Order: sequence, then C-alpha cells, then structure tokens
Amino acid sequence: MSTISPPPPGVEGQGFFATSLDSAIGLARANSIWPLPFATSCCGIEFMATMGPHYDLGRFGSERLSFSPRQADLLMVMGTISKKMGPILRNVYEQMAEPRWVIAVGACASSGGIFDTYSVLQGIDKVIPVDVYVPGCPPRPEQIIEGVMKIQELVKTESLRRREMPEYQELLKSYGIK
Ligand code: SF4
Repeated sequence: MSTISPPPPGVEGQGFFATSLDSAIGLARANSIWPLPFATSCCGIEFMATMGPHYDLGRFGSERLSFSPRQADLLMVMGTISKKMGPILRNVYEQMAEPRWVIAVGACASSGGIFDTYSVLQGIDKVIPVDVYVPGCPPRPEQIIEGVMKIQELVKTESLRRREMPEYQELLKSYGIK
C-alpha cells in the first residue's frame, strides 16, 4: 500500500494547478527523505523492523538509506549514546548538508533513558539540535513511522529561507556549530 500526499494549497483550474515554490519544493522534499540510521543499540532493531516489508518505510519515500552523511537529509539516532560518542555524532551531523533534520528515536537518544550514569549522554540534544523526539523503550515501528511523518509535516511547511533566518543561525550558534 502506498501513501498518497495531498497537494499543497494552491489555485486549481481546468488543466492547471498553481502553488508557491516553497510548497512545491516542500512536497518533493517531504516525500523523498533519505535517512541516515545512526543505530547503536536495541532501538536500531526496531528500525530494522520499520524498514521491513510489514511496516515498509519505503511507502513514505524513505527506503533509500544513506550511510554517507553528505547524501542524507534526516539523521535518525537510535540507541544509547555514550559521552565519548557525542563528538562523533556531532561530526556526522556537521557533515550533512542543509537542509537537514534530526529525530531522537527512543528514550536513550532523547534523554539517556534508564542509563542515568556518568558515561551516557543524557539526550543527544546536548550536542546537536533535535527536531522530533520519539518516546518509548523501545518505540514500536508505528511510533518511528509517526516520527518520520512529523518530520514530513515540518519539511512540507518549512520556508526555504528558514536556514538563513537569524533564529536558525542562533540555534546553531548555541551549539557552537557554524
Ligand atoms: S530506549 Fe530502550 S530499547 Fe532503545 S536503546 Fe535505549 S534501552 Fe534500548
């Protein structure tokens, strides 16, 4: 079964449909997101199920996984991230080209989960900005899909100029990212 995206708001007539450039690009981007799975532990197994034929993330145009940051739009962090791994995660994020989005999948990536210890990062938003948090330990594939759909909504409605806006520049600056 495939998912069909409704058209963006626009003007319709006989034989034509007009919309804004932002909406057209947003629609195309939202339905062709290339995820980079940064999976370190059990949540990664749930992601494998999400990619399998039963849940089939390909229905959302995201079947093409990228293990190269330069060819990825969406960083999906799944699993416990140790403090030692924080700089590596940040390095991967920095290597991704704009526009880029991030999902923290599961309790560990979102907040450290049950591992409130000296060695575990208490949430990846300590080192990189996060767009969507998916709760659960582990989250079911349906929840991961919902997280991707939230990102799609964001991508569809995001202005093409957002990345140049002072608020966004400030956000990156607060993380020390250029
Ligand atoms: S949130 Fe739970 S299932 Fe996911 S990586 Fe952490 S301990 Fe494992």
